[in-house]
Amino acid sequence: MAKLYFNFSTMNAGKSTVLLQASHNYRERGMQTYLLTAALDDRSGARRIASRIGIGEEADTFSKGEDLFAKLKERLSEGAVACVFVDEAQFLEKQQVWELARAVDELNVPVMCYGLRVDFRGELFPGSAALLAWSDEMREVRTICHCGKKATMVVRNGPDGKPLMDGAQVLVGGNETYVSLCRRHWREAVGDA
Ligand SMILES: [Zn+2]
Repeated sequence: MAKLYFNFSTMNAGKSTVLLQASHNYRERGMQTYLLTAALDDRSGARRIASRIGIGEEADTFSKGEDLFAKLKERLSEGAVACVFVDEAQFLEKQQVWELARAVDELNVPVMCYGLRVDFRGELFPGSAALLAWSDEMREVRTICHCGKKATMVVRNGPDGKPLMDGAQVLVGGNETYVSLCRRHWREAVGDA
């Protein structure tokens, strides 16, 4: 039986690298994969999933309001797909997570989603909340804080290097940087005494 998977992490944990490696493992065995990433994210160039260690693959994109069940059904009608990979899954809409779940159940194709669990304010992304609720299997892609503990939180630092505590959840192309921290050091960074 196909399953809906959610691989979650904080920033800079290497989730795109894990995704590309998993896709490669299928392709190496002669199976096709279908890669999707958020249309709003053009950091790695349009329609491309790139990892920080220098590997990348062409990818199709999903945008707001798009019916992903219909999209996967159409792709499958063009040829067999062993597994669907979705990067930047935190940007999925709640409805789109249901559409992916339906594709898993009715089209019998595994869907592996990769995304951030929480934003810089410590709040769940809507897409991640839905995936945490409805995935068949979840796995954490781990990275560490500067202290060596597991990092689960992220701060968004402004151009002055100081943590920002408000602003849009989604920010593309800004001068901000993100640092992954354990919860204790995140609380210190944002001034939670
Ligand atoms: Zn720490």
